[in-house]
Amino acid sequence: MNQKKIILVTGATGAQGGSVAKALLAKEDYAVRVLTRNAASAAAHNLRLLGADVVEGDLDDKQSLARAMKDVYGVFGVTNFWEHYQQEYNQGKNLIDAVKQAGVTHFVYSSLPSYKKLSNGELEVPHCDLKGELEEYTKSLGIPFTFIHIAFYYENFFSFFPFKLAEDGRFHFGFPQGYTKLAMVSVEDLGGVVASVFNFPIAYTGRTVGVVGADETCDQYAATLTRILGYPVQYDYIPRDIYASFGFPGAEELANMFEVQRLYIPSRQLDLIESYGLNPAMQSFEQWVTKNKERFVQSFLVQPEPAVV
Ligand code: NAP
Repeated sequence: MNQKKIILVTGATGAQGGSVAKALLAKEDYAVRVLTRNAASAAAHNLRLLGADVVEGDLDDKQSLARAMKDVYGVFGVTNFWEHYQQEYNQGKNLIDAVKQAGVTHFVYSSLPSYKKLSNGELEVPHCDLKGELEEYTKSLGIPFTFIHIAFYYENFFSFFPFKLAEDGRFHFGFPQGYTKLAMVSVEDLGGVVASVFNFPIAYTGRTVGVVGADETCDQYAATLTRILGYPVQYDYIPRDIYASFGFPGAEELANMFEVQRLYIPSRQLDLIESYGLNPAMQSFEQWVTKNKERFVQSFLVQPEPAVV
C-alpha cells in the first residue's frame, strides 16, 4: 500500500504544473496526482510514464475537482488567464472551494499580486488583478496557503515576445518596461522551489514566495543575448501608450503590466535570493540562454523580411 502523501498538481500538462509535477516525481517524497481535461494527450501519457496518477477533470466542473482531491495532502494550483480570460476567476474560485471542502493541508497557489492595487487603482491588468482577488478569497476561507508569484518566464522569448530582425541588421525586442529591472525566470525551475515549499510547510504556510532567476534591466538581458548568441540583440523601450495602441489582443493589458512594473516594482532581489535558497539548481539568464543557444540561432535563421522598428 502506498503510504506517501498525495499532492494534486493542476496544469501539469503545461509549463508551470509540468515543472512542479516533474520536480515532485523526481524526489519521490510524495505520490503525485495530476489533473487534465484530456488524459489521452501526449503530455498526460509522459506524466504517467514518470509515475503520476493521471485523473481527468476540469476547473469548470466542481464535481471533478472534488473527485480529484479525494485523500490529498496538498494541492498545487494554477489557472490559465490566456485561455479563459475573465472565466479564470470562476475557475480559480471552483479550485479554492474544492480545496476548502477537501480539507487540504497545504494549498500552494500560483497567483500574482493585484497590479491595480499596486498602481493605486490607476492601471488595470486583469490577469494579475483576478489572481489578487483569488488570493483574498483563499484567505477569507482560512485555507492553509502559500502563494507563488512567478516572474516573467525566460521562455516568453520563444512564445509571446520573439525577436524581430530590423533593417539595422539587429534583432529587437521591446515593451514598456523601460530601464527598470525586469524579474525573469525559467519556468522549468519553478518545480524545485515548490517542492521545497511543500517540504517546509511550517515555514511557508501563510507566506508569499516570489520565484525569480534573474533581476536585471532589459538592456542587460540584451547584452547577454548578444554576447552568448553572437548576433546583435537590442531592447527598445516602447512607452505604454504606444504599445497599447498596437491593437493586438491583450496589447493594452500587457502595456499596463509593464507600466506597473516600470513604475512600482523597482527590484525583486529578495525574491531572487530566496528562490536560489529554495532551489539551488535555479538557472541564471546567462545559463539558460547558453543552454538554448541553438534554438535561438535557428529562430534567427528563419526570420521574415526585416521590419522597420
Ligand atoms: P500553459 O503552459 O498554457 O498550461 C495551461 C495548463 O492549464 C494546461 O496544463 C491545461 O491542462 C490546464 N488547464 C487549462 N484550462 C483548464 C481547465 N479548464 N481545467 C483544467 N485544467 C486546465 O500555462 P502556464 O504557463 O503553465 O500557466 C498559465 C498562467 O501563468 C497564466 O494564468 C499566466 O497569467 C501565468 N503567468 C505567466 C507568466 C509568463 O511569463 N508567461 C508569468 C507569471 C504568471 P489540459 O489542457 O491538460 O487540461
